[in-house]
Amino acid sequence: MKITAPVEKNEMYDVKIIDLTYQGMGVAKINDFSIFIEDTLPGEEATIKVIKINKNFGFGKLVKLITKSKDRVESVDKDYTRTGIAPLQHLKYDAQLKFKQSQIQELFNKAKMNVEVLPTIGMDKPSHYRNKAQIPVKKINGKLETGFYRKHSHDLVPIEDFYIQDPEIDKAIVVVRDILRKYHVAPYDEINHSGVIRNIMVRRGHYSHEMMIGLITRTKKLPMVDMITSEIAKALPEVKSIMQNINLTDGNALMGKKTICLYGSSHIEDQLLGLKFYISLTSFYQVNPTQTEKLYSLAVEKAQLDGKQNVIDAYCGIGTISLAMAKKAKKVYGVEIVKDAIEDAKINAQKNHINNAKFVTGKAEEQMEKWQSQGLKSDVIVVDPPRKGLASSFIESAVKVAPKRIVYVSCNPSTLVRDARRLSEYGYEINQPIQPVDQFPQTVHIESVTVFEKK
Ligand code: SAH
Repeated sequence: MKITAPVEKNEMYDVKIIDLTYQGMGVAKINDFSIFIEDTLPGEEATIKVIKINKNFGFGKLVKLITKSKDRVESVDKDYTRTGIAPLQHLKYDAQLKFKQSQIQELFNKAKMNVEVLPTIGMDKPSHYRNKAQIPVKKINGKLETGFYRKHSHDLVPIEDFYIQDPEIDKAIVVVRDILRKYHVAPYDEINHSGVIRNIMVRRGHYSHEMMIGLITRTKKLPMVDMITSEIAKALPEVKSIMQNINLTDGNALMGKKTICLYGSSHIEDQLLGLKFYISLTSFYQVNPTQTEKLYSLAVEKAQLDGKQNVIDAYCGIGTISLAMAKKAKKVYGVEIVKDAIEDAKINAQKNHINNAKFVTGKAEEQMEKWQSQGLKSDVIVVDPPRKGLASSFIESAVKVAPKRIVYVSCNPSTLVRDARRLSEYGYEINQPIQPVDQFPQTVHIESVTVFEKK
């Protein structure tokens, strides 16, 4: 049976917004047909124009607000919504924190799992927090520009103040942009697969103020490289490292395989919870330093260590959580798929004089099976997987190791719920409330800590 939508493209309607999706879009119903509208909030009435219709739902554009939510922030910069830099900027911060809490709660309710979710731990100043930027470079009207892509497109919107990034990083991007302009470096043109500079990446240590500049190029050679690097280093005294990453491909992958050091060291250093960390261009490092300290402290606390336990840190990155736990554990075992990150983790252990942490490169699901078949006993397993969550084979081997508790740091509530269901089949239950920590204010991303305990 063909279902026809009760609306047509370009029609205008007055609607009431009844919900907010996990992507931060307002939801209205027209004869039971869902319409998603950017920049609208629950409780608001709005005039909208239908802009797209799919089989079971459609999209609308806000034309005029008839009534406004008390949770609305009035003065926003539309570019941050258009580009997806800050899709929740129009929602007051308190309401953002509640939104994130209820997103997790609703998913568990839907899965018929009786779990409590605590109020989200937020930031005092929820902007300018990111310690890392990845900025595309494009030619617009003959000029090299830096900014952000309009959502679902590769149209660059020139931006100088990125709102959620460390302002020193924003300044550095403008400095690098101007130097690239001065030396006539050609921006990458993805249609013709020509040009040189694709992206600029900047990292800045929250405590150390050490800065790394990454220039991602399509070509092996960066013309005028010596002039460019020495001018960047002169203009930005915090710069301790300038790296070039060569991405020869014509796809969307940000980085290529080869990275070279153009200036200074190939690492910068920063601190978390008083521990020193070595960070390279390609390794994963949490982007919100203040909130990360809250998140890791919580994970350590929830692990309930007293110096006698063996801990496994799966998906360990450069060993941040592992080293935060090492002081309170007998031994920590970390596994991570990126080889460079494991090399950094080993250096980090040495730098912090930690001798009871062991790191291996590998897939968590494969290494877990190896550890299990070698008879490794672990009291606590910490997992901090990417958005896709845990592999089912990981869960199978993890439960055979039979830890007393599993501390799950999640950046995606829907895979968390899926994994919680699988873990409960093996007798691992959630006995204490889940704690969300806002790692990404103004965006829809939701991070949380959950503890599973063996029955
Ligand atoms: N706990 C670290 C890293 C968390 S991010 C921190 O907080 O800094 C998730 C990490 O999992 C990334 O470093 C990624 O490279 C790694 N990863 C992704 N898939 C993996 C897999 N199958 N096995 C092991 N590590 C994986």
